[in-house]
Amino acid sequence: MRLSRSLFVTLRDVPSDAEVPSHALLARGGYIQKLAAGIYVYGPWMWRTIRKVSEIVREEMNRAGAEELAMPVLQPREIWEESGRWDGYLQARILFHLKDRKDADLCLGPTHEEVITTFVKRFVTSYKQLPLTLYQIQTKFRDEIRPRFGLMRGREFLMKDAYSFDADEEGLERSYRAMHEAYNRAFSRCGLDFTVVEADPGAIGGSGSQEFMVNAATGEDAILRCPACRYAANVEKADSRIEAAPSNGSPRPLKRLRTPGMTSVEQLAAFTGLHPAQMTKTVLYRAFFKEKEQVVAVLVRGDQEVNEVKLGNALGALAVEMADEATIRRVSGAEPGFAGPIGLKARILADPSARGLGNTLCGANETDVHCVDVNLGRDFPEPEFRDLRKARATEGCPRCAEGRLEEARGIEVGHIFKLGTKYSKAMGASFAAADGELRPFVMGCYGIGVSRVAAAAVEQNHDAAGIRWPAAIAPYHAMLVCVNVQDETQRAVAEDLYGRLAEAGVETAYDDRPLSPGIKFKDADLVGLPVRLVVGRDAKDGKVEIKERRAEGIEKVAAAGAVAAVRARIDAALAPR
Ligand code: ATP
Ligand code: MG
Repeated sequence: MRLSRSLFVTLRDVPSDAEVPSHALLARGGYIQKLAAGIYVYGPWMWRTIRKVSEIVREEMNRAGAEELAMPVLQPREIWEESGRWDGYLQARILFHLKDRKDADLCLGPTHEEVITTFVKRFVTSYKQLPLTLYQIQTKFRDEIRPRFGLMRGREFLMKDAYSFDADEEGLERSYRAMHEAYNRAFSRCGLDFTVVEADPGAIGGSGSQEFMVNAATGEDAILRCPACRYAANVEKADSRIEAAPSNGSPRPLKRLRTPGMTSVEQLAAFTGLHPAQMTKTVLYRAFFKEKEQVVAVLVRGDQEVNEVKLGNALGALAVEMADEATIRRVSGAEPGFAGPIGLKARILADPSARGLGNTLCGANETDVHCVDVNLGRDFPEPEFRDLRKARATEGCPRCAEGRLEEARGIEVGHIFKLGTKYSKAMGASFAAADGELRPFVMGCYGIGVSRVAAAAVEQNHDAAGIRWPAAIAPYHAMLVCVNVQDETQRAVAEDLYGRLAEAGVETAYDDRPLSPGIKFKDADLVGLPVRLVVGRDAKDGKVEIKERRAEGIEKVAAAGAVAAVRARIDAALAPR
C-alpha cells in the first residue's frame, strides 16, 4: 500500500476527551474518528487490525468446534418479554430501542441470548442434535452511561458472541472448558498479557463466570489476586479472609451514648476507644425492583465496606443505590450517620463480618446518639446473613492459607458464563432427552469485545512516540520508508524492495510521500508497525536500514538481503510466545 495514493492522515493534536493512551494514539494515528459519543468510524488501518483480531477469534472458535452464523441486529420486544429482561434493560437505560410504523417495539441488540434461544428452540428438538455452540461477530449497541476511552467503551462496538447448548450440566462444563481454552489461545495469539479472573455474572445472569482481563494500569476494572496461589477475581465478585475483631468482654447491658456530630467510624473510635472492627456499621440502600422500591439496611463490621454488586445480587434487584438523606431521615428518624438496627423501619441484611461482635456500637436511630454494648440476637433479632462485604487488598486470600491479596487493574476483553437453564426455562426452549423426557437446554454464553481487544492491545503496547502493535494484529507488518523520493537511486531501490516484500508475503505500507524524513519517521513511530525498513543515502552503496518498533537498535543490511531480513523478523514476531 502506497501512502501517497491512500488515505493516510495523522494528527498533531490529541482529542480533548482522550483520557487514556490508546484513545489518544489511535485518534492521532488516523485509526479512528469520532462521529458522536462512543460512536466511531474505523479507518482503513483500524479495520485491517479489527479484521485480524476477528480472524484469530474465528479460527479459535472453529477449532473449538463452534459454528458461525449471523443474527439480526433488530430484535422484537416479545422475545425480551419472554426472557423477562425488557424492563430491566430499559430501567438500566442501556437498551437502544425504537418503534416501527405499526408502533411495535424493537431494540438494537446489546447481546443475543433471546435471539439464539428462539432460533435453537425452533430447530433443535432432540438430544441427538446436541451439543451445539454457535457464534457470530457483529456490531452491538449499548447506551452506556459513560462512553469513553475511544473504542474501549463504545455505544456501538464489535463483539464476538457465542452460545452453547447442552443436554446437561456435565455437557455445559465441557463446552465452557472448550471456550475457556479457545479464549486463552485467541488472546495469546493477539499478543496480549492477560489474567483470567472470577467474575460477577451481572445482568446476563447464571451460575459461574470468568473474565479475561488485559493487564493495564488504566483498566476500568479492579482485580484482586493472590501471589501465593492462582486465585484472581474481579473486586465485584472477590472474597477474602479477614482477621477476627478484638474481643470486647462478656455481654454488658445496652447503653445509650451521646455522640454529637459523630458520624464517622474514625470519630467514634477516637471518642469511645473502641476499635473500628468492634463497631457495627449500618448502611441504607434503595433497591429497585420491577414494580417496587425498597429501603434495605446492610450491617457490616465497622472497618468493612459493602459490595453493592453482591447486594444487588442478594436482593435480586434491578439496581441498588445508597439511600439519599431524605430517605435516611424518614427510615431512621435521625440525621444521616446515626442509623442502627434496633427498631429500624427497613429490611435488614447483614454481612457475616457483623456476626458475633459482642458489646458492639451502632447508631441509635436518633440524631447525636449511638448505642454501645449492643449484642446481636439479644438487642435486636438475628438478621438475614449474606456475603455482602467488599474484599480489599492486603486481606487474606480466600483460597490458600498464606497469601495476601494484591490489587491490579485490567481491561475486560472477554467474559464467559454458565447460564444454565435461565433462558431456556423462561423461553420454553426444550428438547427430547434420551429417556424421552422434555428438558430445557443447559446453556452457556461467551463474549469477546473485538474492537476493545484492539484498543487494549495499544494500551498495553505503546511508548511516548506511538503504538507498538503486536505483529499478529498490526494493520501491516512493515513500513518501507523512502527518505527522498526525488533521489533516483533511493526511489529505484525502494520500488524494487516494495515489489519483493509483497512477493515474500510481507504486508507493507510504503511511505513514498514527498515529505521530510523527520515527518515520515515520526509517523512511522506513531502508527507503530512492527518493522521499519528505511531506504536513504546509503542506498547508493546498496545498503538499507532495519529497525524494529519494539527495539532500540538500527541495523544496516545489504538491500539484496533486506527482504529476507524483514521476513525473518516478522516471522519471529508472529511466532507463538
Ligand atoms: P463491561 O463490564 O465492561 O461493561 P459487560 O460485562 O457489560 O462489559 P459483556 O456483556 O460481558 O460486557 O460483553 C462481552 C464483551 O464485550 C466484554 O467482555 C467486553 O470485552 C465487550 N464490551 C462490553 N461492553 C463494551 C463496550 N461498551 N464497548 C466495547 N466493548 C464492550
Ligand atoms: Mg462482562
